[in-house]
Amino acid sequence: MRQASPAWEEKCSRCGLCCHEKVIVGREVVYDLDAHCEHYDPKTHQCRIYLERLEIEARCRRVSRFSAMFASYLPETCAYVQWARSKHIRFAIRRHIRFARGNCGDSSDEDPISSLCPAK
Ligand code: SF4
Repeated sequence: MRQASPAWEEKCSRCGLCCHEKVIVGREVVYDLDAHCEHYDPKTHQCRIYLERLEIEARCRRVSRFSAMFASYLPETCAYVQWARSKHIRFAIRRHIRFARGNCGDSSDEDPISSLCPAK
């Protein structure tokens, strides 16, 4: 499969949010910080199979100009979304980002995300 240009690839800030499980609820996108693609390395925020990801991982989607313009699952903080907004070609509705932890048992009281977990 053809790779995107280096200039397009370099726009990615490697936040890794698009590699996490997510669900769209109304005007929010909720990212589960405890659940991510098996090929995503949470320490480096990098994909371990980046160059072959589209062949190996059926769920992986290239972030194209089209998805920068229309994909609701990309966070507002995504560099591609910000690029599309700067060009006035972002057409997906603006959604608030919310973080959750599927594994609430590991969150500490100092962790701001723990407030999303049910009380212990
Ligand atoms: S959400 Fe956007 S900026 Fe973050 S890793 Fe994914 S493509 Fe890159």
